[in-house]
Amino acid sequence: MTGKREGHSGRFEGKTAIVTGAGSGIGKATAMKLASEGAKVALFDLLDERTEQTAEEINALFAGAARAFDVDVSDPQRVEQAVTEAAEQFDRIDIVFANAGINGKLAPVDELSYEEWEKTLNINLTGTFLTVKYTVPYLKKQGGSIIITSSINGNDKFSGFGMSAYSATKAGQVAFAKMIALELARYRIRVNAISPGAIATNIDKSTEKSKELEDIIIPVEYPEGSQPLEGGPGKPEHVADLVAFLASDESIHITGARVVIDGAESLL
Ligand code: NAD
Repeated sequence: MTGKREGHSGRFEGKTAIVTGAGSGIGKATAMKLASEGAKVALFDLLDERTEQTAEEINALFAGAARAFDVDVSDPQRVEQAVTEAAEQFDRIDIVFANAGINGKLAPVDELSYEEWEKTLNINLTGTFLTVKYTVPYLKKQGGSIIITSSINGNDKFSGFGMSAYSATKAGQVAFAKMIALELARYRIRVNAISPGAIATNIDKSTEKSKELEDIIIPVEYPEGSQPLEGGPGKPEHVADLVAFLASDESIHITGARVVIDGAESLL
């Protein structure tokens, strides 16, 4: 990327976005994309070098556009505090990308501990709720767009063996998105969910596999490859383009939708 704003230059000029899970993968690519089109971006993630690095990369291209916030999305106090700080620094909140998530522990259901189940639900589903809960009062002021990263797992595809907790969160996020799309429509707040298929990110680092997993796997063979369109996983930038569309006025009449972005993976 160059210092010159690319694409629909200025589509998000004067707007502020909160992006969770912004230190890596889909969140990082989306933060870069929104900033490249004029948005100020508040990067919420567990603060590590990657999140600071993302802020530095964005600010090097678009001075003052990004700030990293040390936030565990499953911690209500920390989410509330960071949202308040972001709104104070950037004056307003227009776009919320509730994207942080983990694969968590992959295990047969009787081997999955309560703590492992709860961790995945707390980060993926409760984290989505908290991100929305604390940003909605700001979005209500002028309207806005909320985009929630779900998955094809739990919605279109059920062969991710051992992913019962993950898939439950990803289905739950879609029901939540549709409920609040209806609830918030009167405030001109749109809410949409996206369902990526396999995307090349660091998500596998958040995956733990139990040794009993092999006992429950049913081998599934895809004759033409897992993602027919690309012949492999998608790129985070593909997803960022979709999120930017859903964040922009180009999707002004779209709310309560779930958009699949998987290169036909879930059709096989
Ligand atoms: P990633 O691991 O590259 O990025 C996820 C980010 O979320 C990381 O920076 C991580 O630090 C952050 N995060 C994790 N727990 C957090 C917490 N408690 N608080 C704040 N931040 C936290 O993975 P990704 O693929 O970019 O994942 C983004 C979203 O996309 C997730 O919700 C994931 O479920 C979803 N998704 C990914 C794929 C895929 O194939 N990569 C497919 C479908 C859906």
